[in-house]
Amino acid sequence: MSAPLVLPCFRHPEREAAARCPACRRAFCRECVTEHDGRVLCASCLRAAASPAAPPRRRIAERFAAAAGFLAAWLFFFLLGRLLVALPSSAGEGAGFGDPPTRSEPR
Ligand SMILES: [Zn+2]
Ligand SMILES: [Zn+2]
Repeated sequence: MSAPLVLPCFRHPEREAAARCPACRRAFCRECVTEHDGRVLCASCLRAAASPAAPPRRRIAERFAAAAGFLAAWLFFFLLGRLLVALPSSAGEGAGFGDPPTRSEPR
């Protein structure tokens, strides 16, 4: 009745697991785990941690930020353009800078 709580390796069922991968929570034998950055990871998790396959999310955020910046710039220039269009027309009307009214020609 002394069955030790030994888990088999996830890849080698006939072997005893020596460590458990903290990333995927699976048990692995001594051969299947590798120490990486102070942690013991299995081969697949080690590959996932080593390869830069994580940053698609950050890229999307960067794209979104760039799009938002572009939109903000567009809005700024759009409003600026409207302001520039609206200003001279009202000011010109007040100053009478438009086409001069029909006036009698001298002679
Ligand atoms: Zn793992
Ligand atoms: Zn193994």
